[in-house]
Amino acid sequence: MTRTSAEIRTAFQQFFAERGHEVVPSGSLVPGNDPTLLFTNAGMVPFKEVFLGREDRPYQRAVSSQRCVRAGGKHNDLENVGYTARHHTFFEMLGNFSFGDYFKRDAIRYAWAFLTEVLELPAERLWVTVYEEDDEAAALWLEDVGVDPARFSRIGAEDNFWSMGDTGPCGPCSEIFYDHGPEVAGGPPGTPEEDGDRYVEIWNLVFMQYDRGGDGALTPLPKPSIDTGMGLERIAAVAQGVTNNFDIDLFKRLVAAAAELAGTQDTEDSSLRVIADHIRACAFLIVDGILPSNEGRGYVLRRIIRRAVRHGYKLGIAEPFFYRLVGPLNQEMGEAFPELPAAQATVERVLRQEEERFRETLEQGLRLLADDLATLEGDTIPGDTVFKLYDTFGFPVDLTADVAREQGLHLDMAGFESAMSAQRERARAASTFRAEYGGAADFGGTTHFSGYEVKEDAAEVIGLYRD
Ligand code: ATP
Ligand code: MG
Ligand code: MG
Ligand code: MG
Repeated sequence: MTRTSAEIRTAFQQFFAERGHEVVPSGSLVPGNDPTLLFTNAGMVPFKEVFLGREDRPYQRAVSSQRCVRAGGKHNDLENVGYTARHHTFFEMLGNFSFGDYFKRDAIRYAWAFLTEVLELPAERLWVTVYEEDDEAAALWLEDVGVDPARFSRIGAEDNFWSMGDTGPCGPCSEIFYDHGPEVAGGPPGTPEEDGDRYVEIWNLVFMQYDRGGDGALTPLPKPSIDTGMGLERIAAVAQGVTNNFDIDLFKRLVAAAAELAGTQDTEDSSLRVIADHIRACAFLIVDGILPSNEGRGYVLRRIIRRAVRHGYKLGIAEPFFYRLVGPLNQEMGEAFPELPAAQATVERVLRQEEERFRETLEQGLRLLADDLATLEGDTIPGDTVFKLYDTFGFPVDLTADVAREQGLHLDMAGFESAMSAQRERARAASTFRAEYGGAADFGGTTHFSGYEVKEDAAEVIGLYRD
């Protein structure tokens, strides 16, 4: 039986509700309880204080489908979008949680039952990993559940040991992968080929069982907890028998809507996929109160919008178009997220304004870049060009990197950094001058910028780009 994404979301919540879990609605993309976190990037984020024992809830088990963004900060999948079949900037994370209630045995049994009994996935397509030292989880998978040892591996701490921070709750993980079959390139987890799209990680189970102290020592938690996360779009691809997330029901219709605006039939075009990905991130960031700006969260939003606009331009769309995808998005997700239809007019207005503004300089910037590339020797775009695009034409660095990558080129980031610090020096000198001679002449905040007033901190923009 083929299930829609919406049906899978419901089935997941129902499965866990029947097993005593409170159904908790998705929280905001802006974490209310953690100023150090750019965006909610996992289902556990709204429950962080509960896991830390600082907040009490009237339940010990919860299930949610949490909206997440991984486009900056610790988790950044922006560069993967359009290049892998499984990464998005915005996605939904299905998760079941135990706050000091059940632990490994039930978490493992529930996950296996949901996959093999509810979704009826064949066991021979699944692959399980545990942390290399976690004999308890290994025994549960191999002996209790009966997973075939040929599709089971032990993995090191980098992928299979999770921590909330440098100190605090942490513990081993167990990941479940789906094998899309030999037609897709890639190898099993733990092998050098694992980065392909053949074996896709669908579900991550975290067994929070230690408290890491300031000295790094692990003390067992009195009440171990469970935090799990499964990407809705990935499991929908599996359940719908497609090997690329962009071929699931929800994305297919978003891609079709974008294709219509572009007047193309080629729905495999990666620009359409990038646009379909980005409209979700942008719309929900605005729903959650973020506006495009030159710093912090607002700058991440700006970067994603501009990136989408550039892809639209590349497809030959002459007029502002991005905001016109909010309607189709509403149709796909409005029922599950009523905040979206409620904010539709605002979302459209913000997206339209930002696109109109960027379109004033986009074409000129691209022309400058093309001229530069025509005489380029080697495969690196000079830092001065990257800086000029950024400073004068409002091209976030990752947008220029995106164009470069399409042509097999790199950016001279060291050159960009020095152009940026030289400009900051000039700005500092100008403001000292203004302070000393203020009133004599009205500099009115005018630095040499034409086009945009870009005030970012170099470290911030570069940090976002590098992450
Ligand atoms: P991957 O190794 O594939 O990048 P991850 O280990 O970074 O995934 P987790 O942090 O374990 O992912 O998140 C839990 C689940 O959320 C993953 O198993 C996956 O199903 C889903 N997921 C993670 N990142 C993305 C993304 N960028 N787009 C879509 N789904 C994602
Ligand atoms: Mg990842
Ligand atoms: Mg992983
Ligand atoms: Mg993982």
